[in-house]
This record gives sequence, structure tokens and C-alpha cells, in this order.
Amino acid sequence: MAASKALFSLSFLLCSLPAIISQSFIRIPSDRSVVDNDIYCESWRLSVETNNSGKWSLVPSSCASYVEKYMNGDKFLSDSEVAFDNMLAYAATVEVGSDGKDAWIFDVDETLISNLPYYKLYGEATLLPVSLRFYKKLQQLGFTIILLTGRTESQRTVTVQNLLKTGYSHWSRLILRNTTEKNDTALVFKSRRRAELAKEGYKLHGCSGDQWSDLVGYPMAKRIFKVPNPLYYLS
Ligand SMILES: [Mg+2]
Repeated sequence: MAASKALFSLSFLLCSLPAIISQSFIRIPSDRSVVDNDIYCESWRLSVETNNSGKWSLVPSSCASYVEKYMNGDKFLSDSEVAFDNMLAYAATVEVGSDGKDAWIFDVDETLISNLPYYKLYGEATLLPVSLRFYKKLQQLGFTIILLTGRTESQRTVTVQNLLKTGYSHWSRLILRNTTEKNDTALVFKSRRRAELAKEGYKLHGCSGDQWSDLVGYPMAKRIFKVPNPLYYLS
């Protein structure tokens, strides 16, 4: 009896499917004669964030005002909030032990702090508020926070000042490039340093960065999280 009911339901669904599809509100346009610039720039930004565009150096001139609007408006904040909500949802599932070895790695620039005002006004790095909220949540959850940045050792003092001034504190380690590493790509440098951490027994649960080179390579954290940055690309 149950089997015949299930068969009836399946037949009904299959018969109804064309009608359901035809009532869909999603339409895929087959042709466009005029390309809206903001739509193009949104597509360009998506290709950057997904790394489909690969290496690039300059925001296309036609997208300069789009990027300015994106960064200064609600969209950048919303994209960041969604990314950090995803991180928090995952972090909350991790069983954090008492040995201090459960680690989360953060990049610094454009991940914890923003240099946008620097580029515009030559001022100091400023806070990305969503990042700070997540950073503090991770500390409450008991994670060991490790900062891994492409900045050099010569910038240690100013980096610490930037971080403290914007509200970050109590990280376990701040890793910067030493003199022998200054010509390494970010990918090579960061992979090497993650390997050292793994060798020390750290469990690399999560890694957050604005560049794919902050995240990929070997070893990789169990989960990686890309935060938005449509301004530049580092390999
Ligand atoms: Mg960065």
C-alpha cells in the first residue's frame, strides 16, 4: 500500500514537473544588445573573488567608480558579514581542546585591517569591524590565534601598533617575512610557515584571508575562508 502511494506521488511529481518549471520566476536571457557597465563590473568582481581572472594588477578603468561604490557602500560590509558568519558557524563546530594547539590563522591586510584610507589619504590602516567581532568570538571559543602576513620583520613594530590601535590583541604569534623570504611569493612563504606550525603540533582548523595565496598551498587549513577584496591580487 505504502509502495503504491509512493509510486503515485512520484508519477504526479513527474507529470507536474513541466508545469512547475514553466512557472519558474528564474529567467535566463538568451541575448543582450546593451551591456550595463555596473553589471559588467559586478561580473568582473565575481571573477576576481573566485580567482577565475587569475593574476591581475589594475581595476579596469571602467569599473573604478563601481569599486569605489562597492567598498564605501553596504555591499562590501554585507559580503564581509556573510563570510564571517560562515566562519563562525564552522568555528562553533570545532571541539577546542585545552592544549592551545587548536589554531586559526588570519592574514592581516584587508582581512583584519583595511588599508583603503591609506591608498586614498596616506593615513593609517583602519579597522574592519566585522573582522574584529569574529576575532573576539574565536578567542572566546578558545582558539589560538596566529597572524600570518606578507609584511616584513622590519614592519613588526608598526604592524603591532596598527593591530593594537584598531582593537586586536592577545594573538599567540605574529609571523612576518624574514630577510631570506622577501622574494618568495605569498603562496610559497605562507605554505612554508603553515608547514612549520603543523610540525609544531598545531591543528590548523581555519584560515581567513583576502587573497587565495593566503589560503591555498600545502598544508592547508581544514577550512579556508576568502574575504572580499576587489582592489588587488597577490600571488
Ligand atoms: Mg591581505
